[in-house]
Parts: sequence; structure tokens; C-alpha cells
Amino acid sequence: MTNTEQQSFPGQIHELPSGGIVLSKLDDIINWARSNSLWPLTFATSCCGIEYMSVAGAKYDFSRFGFEVARASPRQADVIIIAGTIVNKMAPVLKRLYDQMGDPKYVIAMGACAISGGPFFYNTYSVVKGADHVIPVDVYVAGCPPRPEALLHALISLQEKIKSGLTREQIKTAKV
Ligand code: SF4
Repeated sequence: MTNTEQQSFPGQIHELPSGGIVLSKLDDIINWARSNSLWPLTFATSCCGIEYMSVAGAKYDFSRFGFEVARASPRQADVIIIAGTIVNKMAPVLKRLYDQMGDPKYVIAMGACAISGGPFFYNTYSVVKGADHVIPVDVYVAGCPPRPEALLHALISLQEKIKSGLTREQIKTAKV
């Protein structure tokens, strides 16, 4: 292990001439492994999706943190990033995708549209005024659109909270 990996590993590593041993709690290791392999479901519905894509690109490169395995199937995903506007016709589809994801699962609402309907809050009959009317949201990323750094920060914050063993109920309010 490198020094950085040793610092983030939840336990004590004792180097021995024949190899080494690790002392830790099973829950801590599971949370550590889970937080470092969050696979996002591809769910970009409008302009925020472009910023989401740039986070996956070479400049921001979210694969550095273990998020690179974006899945097209909800059954293989841990976190859904709602990047864009949700219209009423799309709401049942979002709910079905969420239901098909295995537990534990997490939800990030990216941008004003996913948080509250954004610029479509007034005078639009067809837009859902916040994804949390459809499924529970764990992390909100403000902006129209949020910058890629903001989404990266949200992902890393979620990662830290999972690593520290917080439940979904605690994740919403806990500070990292
Ligand atoms: S929040 Fe702004 S940038 Fe994002 S989908 Fe809505 S209108 Fe587009």
C-alpha cells in the first residue's frame, strides 16, 4: 500500500517480514470498500447532463475516486445522479429505476431543476418541482448548472459520509 492508501484505510496495518497483518472492524472495511466503488446510474435528462459528462472526462476525471463505472442498468448502480429537468411523464420512470437499484443506494439531485424545478418552477404545467417529490434525495448540488467541481465535491462528500458509517437518514444532515 502507498502512504496515501494507508492513511485512508480504516485499520492498523502491521508490516511483518513475511508480509503483514491488518487489524480492523469488518463494518469499517465494508464501508470503506463501498464508498470507493460507487457506480453511478447514467440519468442525464437535460443541460446539467453536459456538466455531469465533463466530470467523467479527462479534465475532472471522477475515476480517480472510484466513480468511473457508470452503468446503464439500475441493477448495477449504487448512486443515481439526477442531472436535469424531470417532467411529469418521466417521474414514474425515475421511480421505477430507483426501485430497481439494489440497496444500499443513494441519490444526488444535480442542479436547480432536479432540486426544485429550477427555471420551470413557475408557469410550467409539466415539470416536477423537485425530484424529492418522486424519490428520496441524499445530496443536493445547487446551480444552473452546477460546475463540475461542485458535483465532484458532492460525490466525495457522499463518499466520506458512507465511509464514516452514517445511515441514509444521517447522511442528509451530517457535515463532513
Ligand atoms: S438546472 Fe439549469 S442547467 Fe440544469 S437542467 Fe435545469 S435549466 Fe438546465
